[in-house]
Amino acid sequence: MNQPDVLVVGAGIFGLTVAERLANSGKKVLVIDKRNHIGGNAYSEFDKETGIECHKYGAHLFHTSNEEVWQYANRFTSFTGYIHHVYAMHQRAGAERPEVFPMPVNLGTINQFFQANYTPDEAKTLIAEQAKDNPAAKEHREPKNLAEQGISLIGEPLFNAFIKNYTAKQWQTPAEELSPSIIKRLPVRYTYNNRYFKDTHEGLPTDGYEAWFQKMIDIANSEGSGKVEVRLNTDFFADKDIQALRDKNIMTIYTGPIDRYYNYQFGELTWRSLDLEKEVLNVHDFQGCPVMNYNDLEPKWTRIHEFKHFHPERANDPEKWPGYAPDYGKTVIVREYSKTWHRGDEPYYPVNTAVDKEKLAKYQALAEKDKARGVYFGGRLGEYAYYDMDKSFASALKLATELTK
Ligand code: FAD
Ligand code: UDP
Repeated sequence: MNQPDVLVVGAGIFGLTVAERLANSGKKVLVIDKRNHIGGNAYSEFDKETGIECHKYGAHLFHTSNEEVWQYANRFTSFTGYIHHVYAMHQRAGAERPEVFPMPVNLGTINQFFQANYTPDEAKTLIAEQAKDNPAAKEHREPKNLAEQGISLIGEPLFNAFIKNYTAKQWQTPAEELSPSIIKRLPVRYTYNNRYFKDTHEGLPTDGYEAWFQKMIDIANSEGSGKVEVRLNTDFFADKDIQALRDKNIMTIYTGPIDRYYNYQFGELTWRSLDLEKEVLNVHDFQGCPVMNYNDLEPKWTRIHEFKHFHPERANDPEKWPGYAPDYGKTVIVREYSKTWHRGDEPYYPVNTAVDKEKLAKYQALAEKDKARGVYFGGRLGEYAYYDMDKSFASALKLATELTK
């Protein structure tokens, strides 16, 4: 590609979606990524030893209630019927060993925790009683932070057991300084339904995430009147050819961290990063479920993922997927640890404290002015937003529609 019409920085969901849409409408799009693969944080790879698909940047489950996004995604991949379920390890005071509870909090969790057989109405009355002393309830107002939100939803004893310590490990920021929206996404149910998400559509890409994202590029190139070229191992800030394009004021869609773009001039935004510790074990099944949360302060990891459980359907085709065969004898797990982000670490979760919001507003004011020069910011890092994949797709589709008008 001699000179692209558009430069997209980041081959994650946001960048690839904008690239596919713009190529479809005739543009020549150059997508760069500093990593050696496409897909951003949603990328997965097949473990060399076992052939089991491992989500490289933490487990990614696709779920959405957005019809436009669902239709769009289905143009590039089919989805399995996977429905996400999570279990939580917690040791009650005085108990000899930890116990496993269903997550998110539902009637099963409540009855197991209180060793009771409450009906839905009895459980609602109990939780309302246990939530009544938190400031939001007392002052008859909406919860202002994660602690108030959590206690309002599930009362104090369950909050202390399942949210307080997990959140402390995950965010290392007092729950009083975190946004209520972080846990609003978790359903609370007064039935025994322990489905993790509440969206209309859910599933995993049948042949894995990379195949899905590669198909977006292939279809753009075979059906669109424009073209998408992807250049990996290319850092926007370090690559000379890219800097030359920048000097020519080529339209740029930037999906890296917004504070980095502006050279941290108003200070760094706060992120959480992760350590993901992978291990191949010589057991067929380590934990019996895809994700086990560890809700107490010890052990230090927040959760363990066991990847073969994300694709139970692959056990039916052991020739294609030997690592998933019922008698395979090995499994891959990843222990996830949350850590404070420092420059050079991967930025994963925006913490978004009041101070971050002030800094972000200043960066966004600069970004607004840069639109006149054809620079647009998007995605989890570019918008500093705790987006799920479907929200990244939705935000990218919106921008692509604006740009192709
Ligand atoms: P990213 O995927 O972060 O892509 C941005 C890309 O830009 C990266 O590839 C990066 O390398 C590149 N880049 C940055 N700076 C530069 C530069 N200077 N030069 C070149 N390239 C650059 N969502 C769900 O729906 N379900 C889940 O289960 C789920 N689980 C998650 C678990 C974790 C641990 C995390 C962190 C997120 C999870 N998400 C989940 C959210 C999901 O990862 C995001 O919504 C989505 O991947 C964001 O896509 P994006 O394109 O906006 O950003
Ligand atoms: N959370 C918790 N205990 C749990 C699960 C979640 O306290 O067992 C809280 C925690 O603050 C977490 C937030 O709810 O960051 C959102 O959980 P989710 O599983 O959606 O997090 P993600 O998959 O985005 O890391």
